[in-house]
Amino acid sequence: MNKKDHRVPDKAVSKCTSCGSDYGAFMPRHHCRNCRDLFCYKCTQGRIALTAEDNAPQVHVCDRCQKGLIQAKGAC
Ligand SMILES: [Zn+2]
Ligand SMILES: [Zn+2]
Repeated sequence: MNKKDHRVPDKAVSKCTSCGSDYGAFMPRHHCRNCRDLFCYKCTQGRIALTAEDNAPQVHVCDRCQKGLIQAKGAC
C-alpha cells in the first residue's frame, strides 16, 4: 500500500482558496497575513492591524479574516 498524503505544495495551488478563481497573469495570488492561505487579489483587499496598538502596521488579510478580526475587536 503506497498511500500518498494529500498535502498540496504551494506551487500546485492554482485556485483561490476563497472564491475558486484560477490564478494567472491577471489573477495574482496573495498570502493572507493572518491565516496564511493563498487567495486572489480580489479576496485579499482587506487591510487590518493585527494588534491593538495605535501604530500597529496594517497588513493584507483575506476577506474572511478581515471580517473575523473586526468582529473580534467589536464593532465601533
Ligand atoms: Zn478569490
Ligand atoms: Zn485569512
